Formats: sequence, C-alpha cells, structure tokens
Amino acid sequence: MGRYSFDATTPITAESWGAAYANAQTALSATQAVLGGDPAAFALCRPPGHHAGRDYCGGYCYLNVAAIAAQRARDAGVERVAILDIDYHHGNGTQDIFYERGDIFYASLHADPATDYPFYWGHADEVGAGQGRGTTRNWPLPHGTKLEPFRAAQVQALEAIAAFGPGLLVVSFGADTWDGDPISNFALKTGDYAVLAADIAACDWPTVIVMEGGYAIDALGHNVASFLSGF
Ligand SMILES: [Zn+2]
Repeated sequence: MGRYSFDATTPITAESWGAAYANAQTALSATQAVLGGDPAAFALCRPPGHHAGRDYCGGYCYLNVAAIAAQRARDAGVERVAILDIDYHHGNGTQDIFYERGDIFYASLHADPATDYPFYWGHADEVGAGQGRGTTRNWPLPHGTKLEPFRAAQVQALEAIAAFGPGLLVVSFGADTWDGDPISNFALKTGDYAVLAADIAACDWPTVIVMEGGYAIDALGHNVASFLSGF
C-alpha cells in the first residue's frame, strides 16, 4: 500500500479500476465538449481526483481527473491551460504533476496544511520549480473561513490566472468548504457557491468544471446546483 498510496484512506477493490477509469472518461467527455465549442461543461466525477499524482493514489483519489482534462486540452492544441482548485483540501496531486510545467498554471485555495490534510503540501511558498516556477500558487486559509475572505482569495487567484492568459480553465470544484461538511472546517453557505461561480464565469474562459470533494451528502446536491446556477 505504501508503495502506491501516500496514505491509507484509499482502498482498492475489484471494482476500483472500472470506477476510476469511467470517472476519467467523464472528465474527458466534458473537456471534449468544451474543445468542440461549448463555453463550459460540468463533469460529475466520483471519486474525486486532485490528490492523485502521476503514479500514486491517496485521499480517496485514483486518477487525477483535473490533470487529465488539462493535459487533454494541451494535446488538442490549447497552449496554456489553468486549473483553479477550490476544494477544501489542497490538490497536492495536481500540483505535483504540473510543478515543473510552465504551460499549465495551478492555483489552489484550501485549508492551511499546518492544520489540515494533506498536511505536507499547499503552503504559500510552494510556487513551482524549473520551467514551472511561478505557475503554481497557493492560498492557505484558516478554519472558519466565510464567503468574504474566500472570495477575496479567489479574486487574487483569478487575477493571477488572467495574467497567465489561459486558453482553457479547469475548475476543481469541491463542496467540502460548506459550513456543515463533516470532515472540514470552513463556513461557506449554499448560496455562496453561486457568488463564487459567477466570479469565475465572468472571466469568460472556456471552462471545464470537475467535481472533487463534498461529504455532507444531504446538502451536496444543493451546493453543486447553487454553484452551477451561479456559473
Ligand atoms: Zn476535499
């Protein structure tokens, strides 16, 4: 387990590969729709993907759907692709995959790794390396974060992405930033997701939205619907 996973939260059963593969295909279908001219598409991915690296799983993630979508766009000729990750947790896998790449920008808002999973990644001084120096940006936020500071950080992330000039945006959307999420400690309300999504949509980039986390099962559908309605 330790050879292939960076934690012990990600079981592998007989059904796991089929689910992970179909999940990746869902993200690719959304990407294909946007490459074909749709302004945006939402990939209802389960399980999430942003903790998975090139050759390891972890954090309930097997294949990194945001990274797969971004690379697909690059392969189709989009010169610069940005990923905005607004799940509660840092997307360490996505950051790792593109850390030394200058053609894919990774911006993440998340709980401070000093207090929260995945603990060893997502500090503000992680900014990429080599060709990718400056194309990774992190905004760690404290417990109890509400809409106003979250939105302000997202505006900064969108400004950084705008300076990069992407031809396509991938949004890693997690609803585990919600007030009542059982494993998280931010305080976003259901209606807040519409506000955040509208800010992203206003940037007017072709956008692929992939589903990441969200563990308050009864509220999850409402939170996702709020985000999509705002977008
Ligand atoms: Zn999460």
